[in-house]
Formats: sequence, C-alpha cells, structure tokens
Amino acid sequence: MVLPLYVQGAWFIGALLFIFGLKGMSSPVSAREGIVWAGYGMVLAIAGTLLIPDLKNIGLIFAALGVGGAAAWISGKKVQMTDMPQMVAIYNGMGGGAAAAIAAIEFARGEAHSPVTLTLGALGALIGSVSFSGSCIAFAKLQGLLDKPYRLPAQNTVNVVLAVIAVMLGAIMVIMAPAHPALILLFFAVALVLGVIVTLPIGGADMPVVISLFNAFTGLAVGFEGYVQGNPALIIAGIVVGAAGTLLTQLMAKAMNRPISNILFTPMVASGPGEAISGSMKELSALDAAAMMRYASKVIIVPGYGMAVAHAQHKVWEMAAILEEAGVEVKFAIHPVAGRMPGHMNVLLAEAGVPYDKIFDLEEINGEFAQADVALIIGANDVVNPSARTDKSSPIYGMPILNADQAHNVIVIKRGKGTGYSGVENALFYTDNCRMLYGSAQPMAGEIILQLKAMG
Ligand code: NAP
Repeated sequence: MVLPLYVQGAWFIGALLFIFGLKGMSSPVSAREGIVWAGYGMVLAIAGTLLIPDLKNIGLIFAALGVGGAAAWISGKKVQMTDMPQMVAIYNGMGGGAAAAIAAIEFARGEAHSPVTLTLGALGALIGSVSFSGSCIAFAKLQGLLDKPYRLPAQNTVNVVLAVIAVMLGAIMVIMAPAHPALILLFFAVALVLGVIVTLPIGGADMPVVISLFNAFTGLAVGFEGYVQGNPALIIAGIVVGAAGTLLTQLMAKAMNRPISNILFTPMVASGPGEAISGSMKELSALDAAAMMRYASKVIIVPGYGMAVAHAQHKVWEMAAILEEAGVEVKFAIHPVAGRMPGHMNVLLAEAGVPYDKIFDLEEINGEFAQADVALIIGANDVVNPSARTDKSSPIYGMPILNADQAHNVIVIKRGKGTGYSGVENALFYTDNCRMLYGSAQPMAGEIILQLKAMG
C-alpha cells in the first residue's frame, strides 16, 4: 500500500528530529534539549502511524500506548540516578523485543516478501531476540536479582553452537517462507536462549559495556524491521541507535583497555598475585583536609562511583564553590569509565550545577595533576590506581588512569578499605603523599564545608 504523504512526512520529520536529538546529546550542555527533540520525534512518528488509513486494532494500539506510557512515566519519575544503568538495560531490551515481535508477526502472517526482505527480517528477529533476553539478564544482575555469574562448562562452545543453530533455523525460515509456525517458534526460542546464555556468565562489572552492545544490537534490529515494514522513521532511528551504540561500546572497551571479545567471553580476573604494596594508609581529619585545600592554589577533584552512591554531588559542588570564593582554582577531572555508566559523573555534576568549563576529560587534565597542590578523590578507586600502569597481572592493567598520584598531596574520601569495581588493592592509598578521610562522601563533604566556613 502506498501511504499518504502526510504519514510519510510525519515519519520523515520524526526521523530528522531523532538525528537532531542525538546531536544534542553529544554534549552535556545540550543533552537535555536533545532528549526533548528526540521525544518530539517519537510523538510525531507515532502520530504518523495512527494516521495510516484503515488502521486496524486501534483499541489495542491505544491500550499499549497507555500501559507503556504510564509505566515509562512512573519509572522515569521514580528512578534513582544510581539505578539508571538497569533502567537503560530494560528499556533497551524492550526495543529489541519490539523489533523481534514485529518480525514474528511478519513471519507468522506469511505474506509474500522478497528474499532480501525476509533475510533482513530474520536477522532483525535474531538480533532483537538476543538483545531482549540478554538485556533482561543484564537488568536482573544490575538490580541484584541475580548476584553471581553462571558459567556453563565449555561456555564458549555452547554460545557458538546455539548461534549456529539459530542462524540455520532463520535461514530455513526464509527459504521455506511461509514457514510452519512450529519452526518460527523454535527459531525464536533458540534466539532467546542464546541471549540468556551469552549474558549469564558476564560479571556485573562488565555489564554496562554489554548493555551498550545490546543497545547497538537493538538499533540494528529496529533498522532491519523498519526495512521490512517500509518505515523510514524506524530505519533511520535504528541506524542512529545502532551506530551510536557501536561507537559507545568501542569507546568504553577502549577506556577499560579490554577488547569487546574479552569482555564477552573471558571473566575479569587477576592473572597473578599482583605487585606487592608497601607503606600504610594514613588518616587525616576533615579539619586538616579543609585547611589543606583552603590554603592551596589549585585543587583537582576526582569523583567516582562512591560519590554517585552517596548522592554527594551537590555538597561537593558547594564545597568547591566555597574554595573558589577563597581564591583556590578548582577543577573536576572525569575518567571516561568513572562510575557505572558512560557519562555518569558528567550527568551528576551537571545536575548539581557544576559549570561545564570546570569539568575536564582525562586527556585534558592529566598533565595538570603535577601542578596541583591537592587531588581530592571522592569515592573513586580504580580510575586512579597507578598499578594500571605497571602491574601486568592486574585486571585493570593498561587502563589509562587519572594521574592523581602526581599531585603534591592526595586526599581520598571513602568509607573504609573497600576495593573498587575491579576488586584490586590501590597502591596510591599507601603512598607518602596520600591521606585517607574515612566516611561516606556526602557527610564528609558536609563536614569539610563546615570547617571551611569556620575558617572564614
Ligand atoms: P570504583 O573503582 O568502583 O571505586 C569506588 C569506591 O567508592 C570504592 O572503593 C568504595 O570504597 C567507595 N565508596 C563506595 N560507597 C561510598 C560512599 N558512600 N562514600 C564514599 N566512598 C564510597 O569506582 P571508580 O573509580 O569510579 O571506577 C569505576 C569502575 O567501574 C572502573 O573499574 C570501571 O572500569 C568500571 N566500569 C565503569 C563503567 C562505566 O561506564 N562508567 C562501565 C563498566 C565498568 P569503600 O567501600 O571503602 O567506601
């Protein structure tokens, strides 16, 4: 059926808005605006679909819009910043699932399509199903519902065998079209199991990279199904999501210095006992920390996962502003994988009102630590661990780190002797120029603020 111009136009403009939206999301300054533009794009794409002449199942469509819209609205309002990764996982899974469901309907209807369209439909179905079930497992892990990695004997062989079976079933489905419903069901069942089996052994630590990879998969699946449906909005949205997800996955893997294949197929463990650490951890008080920074010329703050869990960003910015008022130059150093999701620290600092010109990426700021009087590390650990430079047996060996150890003095706010995400000891905490300020990030930042105010 040739669709009226207004439907095609709505889809086309919707697709353009997705691209503008993504462009906006490339910087924290315009990210919020970008999301709103993409949202308008989605509204327009849905409105265009509803205007298709002789549209069937209107009641079902509105019921789905109502249920989905309400669930997204409520969960979006309620979600904590620290729970955002699992929310992204589940929403992404829904996208993959929707693409797979579209393909399932197409195959079940058995309408005549060209072999190319059928092949793309089957590919989208396979990728979308893997993304759906894999994202559900990722969600369960990040939500703490599944707490340990489950590894099968000969895990990688099982992965390959399942993938080959799924591809073969898909090929038979395309060749035999219209395929028998039992074959279609078997294909989807194998694809869903494949997503589960591939994701189960991956530890929570690597999960954000996996979610990003599934995000790329979902984009691809949506793009393929858009082709099957002849819907340009779906094709463009799918390509945009697929490309962005692929780039993000590559950037995260690079920042963790681990190839994607290694993240997917090799558990993250130390290959040896690690370099011996000498020295001891030395404490200081909030008063001493405040005095050290108050009389410094330059302070670089390194926020990490602990700052996010403690919701300390507002207090940290209040502290930084007091220091600036007292004439101290304050900068924030952001490691690309600080926290638990891409851009985690940038988002939190932006939310607290930290101006963007005070926030610096690793490459921009690393040369400045040697001139800093104080590096204040707040709930960060792996991203400042110097053994990443030297200890070949360390699971984080080769990961570029922030050169906090080069500052004249280092102050670390953390609750105790807990390790970071990688589970390895941090030699920095034992060095002569490092002092520990034990406590949760928010009350500790509050304590420093009180001391700074008392100093006038
Ligand atoms: P980290 O290495 O996980 O360390 C966080 C530290 O925060 C812990 O040592 C913990 O020590 C402390 N902490 C926890 N709760 C705290 C609280 N309430 N107040 C103060 N401190 C608290 O964090 P990171 O340096 O940000 O490094 C991120 C890690 O995540 C990297 O290994 C990275 O590869 C990994 N990762 C990140 C992403 C991403 O997209 N960002 C993706 C995948 C993996 P205590 O228990 O002693 O307090």
